[in-house]
Amino acid sequence: MKYSKLFGKTLRQPPKDATTVNHRLLTQAGYVEQLMAGVYTYLPLGLRVLTNIARVVREEMNLIDAQEILMPTLHPKANWEITKGWSNIDVLFKLKSRTDKEYALGQSEEEVVTPLVKGRISTYKDLPLCLYQIHWKYRDELRAKSGILRGREFFMKDLYSFHDTQEDFQRFYEIAKKTYLKIFKRLGLTAKVTEASGGGFSEKISYEFIVLTDAGEDTILYCDSCDFCVNVDIAKLKLGDLCASCKKSKLKQAKGSEVGNVFDLGQKYCKDFDITITGRDGEKIHPIMGCYGIGISRIMGVIVEKYNDKNGILWPKEATPYQMHLVGIGLDNKDILSKTHETYRKLQNKNVEILYDDRVDVSPGEKFADADLIGIPVRLVVSKKTGDKIEYKERDKEKTEMLSLEEVVKKVHV
Ligand code: ATP
Ligand code: MG
Repeated sequence: MKYSKLFGKTLRQPPKDATTVNHRLLTQAGYVEQLMAGVYTYLPLGLRVLTNIARVVREEMNLIDAQEILMPTLHPKANWEITKGWSNIDVLFKLKSRTDKEYALGQSEEEVVTPLVKGRISTYKDLPLCLYQIHWKYRDELRAKSGILRGREFFMKDLYSFHDTQEDFQRFYEIAKKTYLKIFKRLGLTAKVTEASGGGFSEKISYEFIVLTDAGEDTILYCDSCDFCVNVDIAKLKLGDLCASCKKSKLKQAKGSEVGNVFDLGQKYCKDFDITITGRDGEKIHPIMGCYGIGISRIMGVIVEKYNDKNGILWPKEATPYQMHLVGIGLDNKDILSKTHETYRKLQNKNVEILYDDRVDVSPGEKFADADLIGIPVRLVVSKKTGDKIEYKERDKEKTEMLSLEEVVKKVHV
């Protein structure tokens, strides 16, 4: 992509209303644009990051035999009345049509996926069944001041699993938890797993995956000697208490952001929508359901909160919008211009995803500042000084190296 043509250039000044690092840097670097509190447009660079995060999630979901579907966000009121969500869920957006019909905007999709499977599963042999989607969610959040960490419209992966026995649910629940940790790790994040009561309709146990960051809205207590971790909102414990699990260390407190969670929904929704199937012993049973969310757009914000310095963003490899950022210096000189173009073309032919700063009328200092702000992991420079080599620099290091094109290409795949 030629930077001169890119829609969504860097801004010299940060947005006035940005109170969080993710909102400020993502706006200034040209990734997102706030339409109103909690609602954002993803510009070309931002959409590439969002798509990359979704790709990682999708790859891992497919590996555990989950099947991707796409459900509507506009839902009939009737489904939400059946589950009592219409009156119980305060964040549910409700709409009235010109003919006075009422609708809900999807804040979660149990109300769609459960009736969807009704009639399509009839015996335990049809289970387990795991369906997921990656789509917008709408929530009437009171606080929407954390940039893309808390949207009123946000991108989520939601998976729903159906099982004939509690044992089979438990088996899949463990697989899902492991997969979640793998996903976050691929995206450069270490998540702590808190155990919580299910909230809402269920008294069952749920797990939250929390990444430590000061920008997060959750406060957790954790132990340094073992994996114990709880959200203070629900815990009877407090800072300095002895760890309830290993009893070796005192609990520490930290701020974090919930990037995902998994719930045991029990038979609630299958009972609500009257789904019965034939069980292993020939009896009629209600399937057991689990739901598993990942905040795709929130993860993008959390990455920025964790990976930034005074000059801008530092994207992890799996999330970065482009693999390399090629900066041409002195492009008013014909020879350098053609050499830089050639480098760009050759790298593209080697399938390197590359952002090429081809602007002629911009100073080297400004180009380097933009490259740091945008945060692509590798910066390449072609100039009068580089001869038949390319200057190679990683975003998080000071050191530069002079490499041949072949050596640069090799670096992409390490
Ligand atoms: P939170 O406690 O942060 O409000 P939640 O418990 O309501 O989250 P879920 O309903 O389980 O979360 O949604 C699944 C995932 O979607 C969350 O783990 C989080 O990563 C993300 N998420 C939830 N609400 C928002 C939001 N308003 N904006 C962006 N992402 C969100
Ligand atoms: Mg919430």
